[in-house]
Formats: sequence, structure tokens, C-alpha cells
Amino acid sequence: MKEIWAYVETAEEKILRVSQEALSEAVRLARQLRSRTTALVIGHAIPKETLDAIGRYGPDRVLLLEDELLSEYGTELYAECIETLLREQKPDALLMGSSVVSMDLAPRLSARLKCSLTTEATFLNPRGGKCMVTRAAYRPHASMILGPQAEGPQIVTLAPKVMDAEEVGAMDGLSVQALEGPRPCGSNAVRLEEKIREIPSQLDITDAEVIVAGGKGMQSEEGFGLLGELAEVVGGTVGATRMAVDLKWSSRESMVGVTGSVVSPEVYFACGISGAIQHVMGMRSSQTIVAINSDPNAPIFRIATLGIVGDVQVVLPVLIQSFRETKARAATGGTGK
Ligand SMILES: Cc1cc2nc3c(=O)[nH]c(=O)nc-3n(C[C@H](O)[C@H](O)[C@H](O)COP(=O)(O)OP(=O)(O)OC[C@H]3O[C@@H](n4cnc5c(N)ncnc54)[C@H](O)[C@@H]3O)c2cc1C
Repeated sequence: MKEIWAYVETAEEKILRVSQEALSEAVRLARQLRSRTTALVIGHAIPKETLDAIGRYGPDRVLLLEDELLSEYGTELYAECIETLLREQKPDALLMGSSVVSMDLAPRLSARLKCSLTTEATFLNPRGGKCMVTRAAYRPHASMILGPQAEGPQIVTLAPKVMDAEEVGAMDGLSVQALEGPRPCGSNAVRLEEKIREIPSQLDITDAEVIVAGGKGMQSEEGFGLLGELAEVVGGTVGATRMAVDLKWSSRESMVGVTGSVVSPEVYFACGISGAIQHVMGMRSSQTIVAINSDPNAPIFRIATLGIVGDVQVVLPVLIQSFRETKARAATGGTGK
């Protein structure tokens, strides 16, 4: 492999965390292979400070495609621009962070170029001029290793928060290659109509160190409120299953799983959650999983570090009280006064 690209997404002049991870991984891979790394940046009026920040992750060059038309993400236009660049410059691999944009772009690029795509990679290992990609398989604790099955650039999206984002220092000689604006766009079938900014009601779930998640077993919206109390006392964030979100007990942004966010906090409380695979795929890499469920045979217990068989409405108030007392004792230096 001679050239590895990382697609770098920016928002409000900042590099997305998942793109920092993708760029760092591209640089690490290139170091092992003695090859070059390119950061591909697309947008409009991207400030020098942002490009400098990209340079600190250590790419050999930044390919910058700027145009007013590219100021907002557009599926067809972005896909066409990247496809053209990949065809012209023929990098061996394109790494992308896991994001809404990469979920949209990566399969389109793979279909247009008829090249390999592997999503949610957790480990990349160069072997025989190819990149072997490890990703989780369907069962918890099982993973698979995949190699590219087609010619052309190998496209890989990375699971979030698995690979380190590592700045290597300011790059004085960084080459920033500005390209011409977008080529004529064949189709405008998908376009952005409106951008609605949702004001997050809580800490971004993917950044939380402790998540208190609930499912249908919380019984009602009021019952779900207990999770907020526990989250407050342990300094965590509330998460939810799709079932709980569909029942409108929690917001869409709190959904964990294949349709929601993939999280890996230090502690994940799964309360009244059965452990369906679509949910488990979003939280199984949590360091400690505490499951509370009234059904001793609930699948969630198979992946739990600690399991409590019981009614959440009984167990949670006890836990909340117990954490409150522990906190109060700690605040008074153990004297309880
Ligand atoms: C294409 C697709 C994508 C999906 N994506 C996602 C996704 O991203 N995230 C997601 O979460 N789901 C997703 N789902 C849905 C998923 O399949 C499950 O239906 C869902 O995760 C189940 O949610 P749940 O655990 O809250 O509910 P249930 O499966 O109904 O489980 C409720 C649990 O609560 C327990 N319980 C009941 N009462 C109590 C009590 N009083 N105390 C303690 N425990 C109690 C029960 O024993 C049971 O185990 C997806 C499904 C499809 C088809």
C-alpha cells in the first residue's frame, strides 16, 4: 500500500472526533507500511486554523476541495466529488470515521467504484499489501477479520472511540493541495432541504463515562424517570432502547444500538432491557455492564458483568438511595455529619 486517505469531517471549524480517530489510524497504518497519508477535506471557506489542526495529526498532505456549493453536505455532490478524486488519484485505502455522513457516503462510493467496504472496524492490520479489518460479528464477544474482495480503494469506516486520536505535533512542511471546485453533478436526487439543530438535553451519549439506560421494562414514562435520578447521582447520562424511544419515554439522541449510537462507557446500567442483538451491538464494548431484569433468562444477562434479577421499580430506588448515602458519606469524609 502506497497511499492511505482519511476523510476528515469538520463542523463549526472543528474536526469531528471520529475523523480525528480515522486520520490518526491512517497515519499509524502508513507508518507501519512506510506509505503516505492524505487527509481529504471537503467544504467551503475552511479556516487555516482548522487545516493546521488537521496537520497536527500527522498526514503528509491535505487535499482540500472547496466550493460554495459544498458548504452543506449533499449526498450526490459529495459522492461524485470523492468518486472522481478516488478514480484520478487511486489511493489504496480510504478510512472514514463512523458518522451520519460516512454511513451515507461509504456504501455509495463502494457501489460506484465497485470496491470493498468494511464498516465499524475495530482493528486494522496490514498484511500482504492489503489491510485486514477486524470488526464485531453478530454474537457478543465474537469478531471477524475481513480482507478486500475487490480491486480499487479499500473503504473502511471505523467504530467510534476504539482507535486513539493522537496529535503528533505541528506540521511545518504540511502540503495543502487545493483542488478545483466540484465537477458537474449528474444527479440532484437527494438534497438538503432544511437543517434543524437539536439542542441536546444532556451530555452527548457517546462521550458519557456512565450510561443509565432503560427499556420497555421501565413500564411507563414516569417509571423511566427513575433512570434520570440514578444518572444524576452517579454522574451519568440516560440512554434508551429503541422500544423506549418509540414509546416516547426518551429522546432519539439517547437511543443506543445499531439504529442509535454505539457507546462504550466505563459503566452501562441496562434496566428493563431484554438484550436484543440490535441493542447489544451498540453497547457491548462497555467496560462494566450492570443488568437489572425481572426475567432471569433475559439475554442481557449473557453479557452482563453484574446481573440483578428483580423488578426495576424495586431495585432502582434501593440503588439510588444507596449511592446517595455513599456520596453523602464521602462528602463528610466518612463521618456522616
Ligand atoms: C432493523 C432494526 C433495528 C433496530 N435497532 C435498534 C437499536 O438501535 N436499538 C435498540 O435498542 N433496539 C433496536 N431494535 C429493536 C430491538 O430488536 C428490540 O425490539 C429492542 O431493543 C427491545 O427493547 P427493550 O429491551 O426495551 O424491550 P423488550 O425486548 O420488550 O424487553 C423488555 C425487558 O424488560 C424486562 N422487564 C419487564 N418488566 C420489568 C420490570 N418490572 N423490571 C425489570 N425488568 C422488566 C423484560 O423481562 C424484558 O427483558 C431494532 C430492530 C430492528 C428490526
